Amino acid sequence: MKITDILQSKPATLSFEVFPPKTDMKYEEVMGAVAKIATLKPDFMSVTYGAMGNGARKYTLAVAKEVMSLGVTPLAHLTCIDSDKEDVETKIEAFREMGIENVLALRGDIPPDHEGFRDYRYASELVEELSRDGHFCVGGACYPEGHPDSPTLFSDIDNLKKKVDAGCSFLTTQMFFDNDIFYSFLSKCRDSHIYVPIIAGIMPVTNGSQVKRSVALSGGILPSKFRRIIDRFGSDPVAMRQAGIAYATDQIIDLYANGIKAVHVYSMNKPDVAEAIRSNLSGII
Ligand code: FAD
Repeated sequence: MKITDILQSKPATLSFEVFPPKTDMKYEEVMGAVAKIATLKPDFMSVTYGAMGNGARKYTLAVAKEVMSLGVTPLAHLTCIDSDKEDVETKIEAFREMGIENVLALRGDIPPDHEGFRDYRYASELVEELSRDGHFCVGGACYPEGHPDSPTLFSDIDNLKKKVDAGCSFLTTQMFFDNDIFYSFLSKCRDSHIYVPIIAGIMPVTNGSQVKRSVALSGGILPSKFRRIIDRFGSDPVAMRQAGIAYATDQIIDLYANGIKAVHVYSMNKPDVAEAIRSNLSGII
């Protein structure tokens, strides 16, 4: 089923993200986690595409196929920064043959040793290609605090509008820890005539070092309420797990209460975390 149809057919949705194994040795472990998360019956599961040089890439399709066989709609990620047209056409053909209907079209991060663009510079070029014949429901990434490469949030939103005009039917946000940042972003997007559904991306932070990595990657802001949690519980794994799940749950409930219909949880291949969030929301969604 296409993600836009899922979003339209339900008053509220909850989806989870998984990432493929980086090595063959981790394959069974990851597939086990994927199967457990699928039993929670999320509205869809996204499957990431490894960054350049990351061995996880070759498994995106296998994990997406597994998700499908478990009765859950997969959203396969695809990046283009280090690909040429031929690579991308091969990937798109493989998605089509496997029955994948939903693709998150991404540029990918520019590596530090980048020596110039190949056939793609921006995700919008991949979006255009994927959406050409209407077979795929194509999504894109967006950044409530602005993409780190963009000089301002407004210029990033102008570029986001170009990506949507190229054929994005929905957007998923980078993680954020302060819902007010998301509400403000949403309103700026609507003011800029971006009307596609925007799925709120929530990361349950369950250990102190993970948050430092995640925030460094996203360039996001940690609100003081959350910072105090990390300071107090970051070095105690049991306490941090409980506090991180509670904080993410609180964010999600606030989003639904404010009329946000779609929440995507960066569940990081942790079925116990996905299950705890699902259970905390059992009477709500
Ligand atoms: P773009 O939309 O191309 O934007 C990149 C930058 O270029 C932005 O600053 C934008 O403002 C600017 N820009 C865009 N169009 C134009 C234009 N026409 N003119 C001038 N400037 C322009 N990475 C992975 O490697 N694998 C994954 O699976 C993955 N999944 C992700 C999922 C989500 C929900 C998110 C939020 C990110 C994900 N990423 C993933 C990370 C992503 O690849 C990086 O954030 C990357 O740096 C930007 O990708 P993009 O698709 O947003 O790029």
